[in-house]
Amino acid sequence: MTRQNTARVPRKPKHWQSRAALRTIMPGADTRCTHCGERLKFAAKQRHKRQVICNVYRRGVWLSMQHYHEACYVAAGQPYGEPDSSHVNGLQVGQLSSQS
Ligand SMILES: [Zn+2]
Repeated sequence: MTRQNTARVPRKPKHWQSRAALRTIMPGADTRCTHCGERLKFAAKQRHKRQVICNVYRRGVWLSMQHYHEACYVAAGQPYGEPDSSHVNGLQVGQLSSQS
């Protein structure tokens, strides 16, 4: 008789879901915030230094990419869940300040 081994995690079907990621706003970016409609523009002295990029999927199909100011995403109630901030740590925003 074969024993049922429950130690193994059942395979989950690969399911693309909408997700959010926290990223540093890069110089030269020209996108608009989905929530407030203002530009996500890189500015060294601005408060908005980070953006939330959302990949929106519907039924496993990529629909669109949405950009939010970090604060706007929170204000919008985090529609695509808590943003993944694991990619934002590698970039030191302070190092991009202008030499004057
Ligand atoms: Zn905004």
